[in-house]
Formats: sequence, C-alpha cells, structure tokens
Amino acid sequence: MSNKRGLFDKRFCDFVRKNFKEGAVVCLTGAGISNESSIPTFRGKGGLWEKYDPGMYASMDGLVSVFRKNPKDLVDFVSDFYGVLLKAKANPAHISLAALEKVGIVKAIITQNIDSLHQRAGSRSVVELHGNSFRIRCSDCGSKLSLEINRAKEMVSLFEKNSGSRIKLLKIMSRYCPRCSKCGGRYRTDIVLFGEQLPAEELKLAYKLLSGCKCLLVIGSSLVVYPAASLPLYAKERGAKLIEINSEPSALSDIFDYKIMGKAGDILPEIARLLI
Ligand code: NAD
Ligand code: ZN
Repeated sequence: MSNKRGLFDKRFCDFVRKNFKEGAVVCLTGAGISNESSIPTFRGKGGLWEKYDPGMYASMDGLVSVFRKNPKDLVDFVSDFYGVLLKAKANPAHISLAALEKVGIVKAIITQNIDSLHQRAGSRSVVELHGNSFRIRCSDCGSKLSLEINRAKEMVSLFEKNSGSRIKLLKIMSRYCPRCSKCGGRYRTDIVLFGEQLPAEELKLAYKLLSGCKCLLVIGSSLVVYPAASLPLYAKERGAKLIEINSEPSALSDIFDYKIMGKAGDILPEIARLLI
C-alpha cells in the first residue's frame, strides 16, 4: 500500500500520479456519490422505491393517475422526495471533485444525479444527464428556470397544507410551474422521468467529453440505467482508462482497468491528496 490511509495499492497510486494531468479526467457520477449526503440511492435500503412503486411514481402518466386517484398520495411523495433533497449538503466526495476541477485535473463531471450537489460543492463543468430537481423546463420550447431552494421549500409546505384539495393543489402547481413567457407552454419539473428521452445537448456533450478523455472515473453508479451505463464502454473504445469507485461491484465492473471498492467520501479525498 502506498498512500497514507492504505486505501490504494502502489500500481493505482503510480497510475494516478502519472496520468491525472491537466484536463485528463472526466467523471461519471451516480446516486452513490450522494449517499453520504443522506440521499439514499433509489434502489438501496431506505430508498424511494422501497416505499413508492416506480411504475407509478417515476413517470408523468403515473404521477397524473396517482393525483387523480388520491392527491394525498402525490403530496406524500413530493414531500418525501424534496424533503431529502432539501436537507442534503455536499460531502467530501463532491468537494474533492470540485477541488480537482479547480486545479485543472478534472475536466468535467457527467452526472446522473438530480440533486445539484456537485454545483453546490463548487464544480462548474457539470453535464446533467437526468436533469435537476431544482429547475423547471417549458414542456414546449424547453426554456429553463431555476427553482431556488427557498421556493422549493415553500412549494412543498403549501402542498402539505393543502393535501386534501385537488383544486388548491392544481393552483399551487400552476404557481410553481407557470406558463412560459416565451411560448405560452407549461413549465414542468426538469427531471428526466421513466420513458423520457435524455436531453440531446447534454448527451452530445457527454459523448464529446468522453471521446477526448484519458481517464474516466465512474463513481457510485450501479451502471444499470441506460444510456448512461453505456458511456464507460464508449470511452474505453476511444482509448480512455476506466476507474471504478463504488462500495460494491457494478453491473459492468469487468470492463474497468482499476476498481477501488469503498465509500466515495473516503476515496476521493485520498485521490485528491495524492495530487494537490
Ligand atoms: P443506483 O442507485 O442504481 O446505484 C448506486 C450505486 O452507488 C450502487 O452501485 C452502490 O453500490 C453505490 N454506492 C452506494 N453508496 C456508495 C458510496 N457511499 N460510495 C460509493 N458508491 C456507493 O444509482 P445510479 O446508477 O445513479 O442510477 C439511479 C438513477 O436514479 C439515476 O438515474 C439517478 O438519476 C437517480 N437518482 C439520483 C439521486 C440523486 O440525485 N442523488 C439519488 C437516487 C437516484
Ligand atoms: Zn416555452
């Protein structure tokens, strides 16, 4: 073992010191990196899908039918969903990636997360494949507006207070997701729901970043959600070395050059310490 806390072997330390140079590293992050920020992974213990059926709650049609059947069920879901996100703070893993971007080593982070924690940690170059829960988007022209934390808190609290009335809930929804001033279309949450296309611009940017990167660091992703799960192989085929950081092997662990098993919040600060 050749780093202070003995988390990595000499081969990995040598690789990092030799290859993690100016702009060489692109990261792909998943729900696991935010687990230590008290946001459970959806499929993991305590995750959202333990309590709510993703067949109903992860698609727009499903959410509409939940609201029609029993609006209180939708309010409970929104309240649980935002309750966790609103309390979360960036953890040492997010902060280390932001520090590595600041010194020029990390070129960009491609994330499957919707929690804004990379940006809150200070990362600037973040490609969000699945949208952001603190943003709304016009369903027609795609124009985007931020849903500030205080506004999101206010919205959830109004939802909870009016959970018995469909009419009042509809009014609250149209206040927080108004009509677009450019085209008159209706705003909606800017999260990619089940069955929806990933944002084309972001996906294009992700492919471009992966075509030019020397090392891809995949952190806290089970690599079962496509097309995000296809990105490591895309990068490998274009010459990138692949490094996986995960508390357990992912569905695609076999294709990685280096596998570091453990918590992202322990490992990324150690990698940063090797370099900064
Ligand atoms: P996933 O839930 O399928 O997998 C999470 C992975 O993280 C697992 O492989 C697990 O072993 C690993 N992990 C858990 N804790 C870890 C830790 N402390 N350190 C390192 N690894 C850890 O996540 P996914 O692959 O991102 O796919 C889930 C989908 O759900 C994504 O599309 C994402 O948009 C969404 N999601 C987002 C958030 C968020 O924004 N924080 C949270 C849950 C789910
Ligand atoms: Zn519009």
